[in-house]
Amino acid sequence: MYSSQIMIQEALKCSRCGICVAACPVFRELQQETYSSRGKTEVARALLEGEVPYSAYTEDLFSKCLLCLACKANCPAGVEQIKLILGVRAELARRKGLPLSKRIAFHYLLKNRSLFGKALKVFSFLQMFTPPKGNGKLRHLPFFLSAFGKGRLIPDISDAPLRKQFSEVIAPAKGPTTLRVGLFAGCFIDFVEPAIGRSLICVLGRHGIEVVFPKKQTCCGIPVFMSGDIKNGLELLKINAEAFAPYQLDAVVVACATCGTALKESYKVLVEGESQEWKDRVGAFRTKVQDISEFLTGKIDLTKAEKGTFLKVTYHDPCHLNRGQGVLAQPRAVIKGLPGVTLVEMRDSQRCCGGGGSFGFYHYDLSKQISRRKIEDIEATGASVVVTGCPGCMLQLKDQLGQKGSPVEVKHLIQLVDEAGV
Ligand code: SF4
Ligand code: SF4
Repeated sequence: MYSSQIMIQEALKCSRCGICVAACPVFRELQQETYSSRGKTEVARALLEGEVPYSAYTEDLFSKCLLCLACKANCPAGVEQIKLILGVRAELARRKGLPLSKRIAFHYLLKNRSLFGKALKVFSFLQMFTPPKGNGKLRHLPFFLSAFGKGRLIPDISDAPLRKQFSEVIAPAKGPTTLRVGLFAGCFIDFVEPAIGRSLICVLGRHGIEVVFPKKQTCCGIPVFMSGDIKNGLELLKINAEAFAPYQLDAVVVACATCGTALKESYKVLVEGESQEWKDRVGAFRTKVQDISEFLTGKIDLTKAEKGTFLKVTYHDPCHLNRGQGVLAQPRAVIKGLPGVTLVEMRDSQRCCGGGGSFGFYHYDLSKQISRRKIEDIEATGASVVVTGCPGCMLQLKDQLGQKGSPVEVKHLIQLVDEAGV
């Protein structure tokens, strides 16, 4: 990770022009300068230079960031606020330690898929005591987690994780094998919405692509190192790089925007202080990673679709796909290639949905405020489905649309492709 000196240099690039402030969703809602991207840049510099102390206030300040990258995308001076925010979070974690729940999750649960699966089974059992809502596919958070968002609607935890549904090497359903790709599933697709992973495997299988699903893979680590726990984040990175290393793969595909950004971008930073051998191994792994929309537009002929659906859809750009990976055109090209599907653009499709991973759990009221305009923009399109490429955004959109009683469905891009028979 970065030294204090590098972070101070980063903060000093800021000319205080304020352009990023208008783009910061947290500032838009709170209207307080210190909570804006410019404010955090200045406070980070003051902390690093010892002008102000680390405190409960600074902890709150730096936790109120969605890591949406809107500040970086709008900054004419090229300040990378994420470097500062993560650096400060890491220092706060070093000084104060993380809460017990995070220490247990990061050190034990996320590294051990079997244990993680068992913990989710308990969670799933407790979910049964909360009645289904709306279309019956969503439930409230169990009572003992209501501190993470009273009234929040979440999907049922799957009782058949993706890793239990498929073997490690999945032969194509049709024709000879044309390509061999690795699947990085991530926690959400593996344990909560395996239907997304199933769609991905089916679509690739229909096009003669063999899918390798290494069972030793684990969490991408983003919730861990974004919380400032660099040590456990690095351990997760190494587990994942080793899990894929034995296979000769044409690509590693990901259907989670946040996991994709972690593997492509954050791993580059995390491995900086490691040996050359590890840098090379991680480099070989991360350069193969592609979002599923990138892979589809490069390798699959969408015009060969067999059956049509008749749908009007809109597309929400996940922050970690458009600003994190520069992937905007590919999902749209995929949608437009589907027979019978019309894409209607929403206003500000790149505006953050307010989820921000664990941000939405720790700052639920603020997260809901940020979501409000996104939901209005989705509904204004008249689309019956909002499509996206990040399970985290899906969680947030399902909750917010569900609470409003909206009939708009939320689907992952690969589910739409699968349903179109492509
Ligand atoms: S990453 Fe997003 S929420 Fe965080 S400071 Fe930048 S614009 Fe604001
Ligand atoms: S846009 Fe960049 S230079 Fe301008 S205030 Fe924000 S961080 Fe500083």
